[in-house]
Amino acid sequence: MKKTIAAAAVAAATLAFPAFAQTVKVTPLGGIDGEFCPQDRALVFEDPNGTRILYDAGRTVAGPTDPRLGKIDIVLVSHTHGDHLGNAHNKAPNSGSCEQPDMSVSALPNSNSVNIALAKKSKIVTGSDMPSFFAAKLRANGGNPADSILARFGGSVVVGGVRIATVTAMHSNGLDPDYIGGELGKGMKEAGIWGDVGLATGYVLRFSNGLVAYLSGDTGITADQDQVVRGLYHATLAVMNIGDGFTTGPAEAAYVMNDLVKPVSVIASHANEVGTVGGKVRPGSKTEAFIKATKAHVHVPLSGRTMEFDGGGRCTAGC
Ligand SMILES: [Zn+2]
Repeated sequence: MKKTIAAAAVAAATLAFPAFAQTVKVTPLGGIDGEFCPQDRALVFEDPNGTRILYDAGRTVAGPTDPRLGKIDIVLVSHTHGDHLGNAHNKAPNSGSCEQPDMSVSALPNSNSVNIALAKKSKIVTGSDMPSFFAAKLRANGGNPADSILARFGGSVVVGGVRIATVTAMHSNGLDPDYIGGELGKGMKEAGIWGDVGLATGYVLRFSNGLVAYLSGDTGITADQDQVVRGLYHATLAVMNIGDGFTTGPAEAAYVMNDLVKPVSVIASHANEVGTVGGKVRPGSKTEAFIKATKAHVHVPLSGRTMEFDGGGRCTAGC
């Protein structure tokens, strides 16, 4: 009888908020299954409608043939630094070790992100001045330049039923001349000058179940994390970079979560360390410091483990 009542309550809740009860699946594609390793950035978001989004492929997705990718409708690149765009990558998932990730396959001059988008016929959605760079890469490799789509600060686009906006990231975004090549690239390399593809970005995604996710990209602390990411978009899930040196460290990232964005759930990212051993957070790690300092639920992105989030940012499975 109890079971019947519980089932009826679930059914009633589902009827009242059908979209809200559906979940967005988030799967980290890191270097080593079940661990959180130094180069890990890549996440696949799957909307309840089936749209699959790859965020910052970086160096741990083993190129377009990585069997973990499946269908990819949209590729996101927060900025063009090699560890996000993917100047190189592993031979296969689980090659190398967590301490010493394999990055032996060069993806120059295209990048891992572009090679994946070409093979999967994905749209590439970026902000700033990055779309013309990606359009040129697609054109040069037989792809469709129109598949590179702009979402510049303050605007947004809907692709595959997911609304995609870019937000400020306090970082740099120089394009390594290795992606340019030729005499121009050689001359720039010798002069130590990087190409200009505009400002680095973060993203805010609104999924069809109502979930709003903030993907920080590499960033410092910005007022927009309070006024735009929370104030306008009301993000309830955040993917927050915690590595220090290049971005906010654990203490600063925890401040951003606790006092500015105030999400329900957080996925730690970009720790640039061995974050876990045997799937457990390593004592003394930056990952541990961030979890301890953050009020919201922090989820560690163990490679290959799918987490599910409802429309309110709560993890309902896999956490
Ligand atoms: Zn980075």
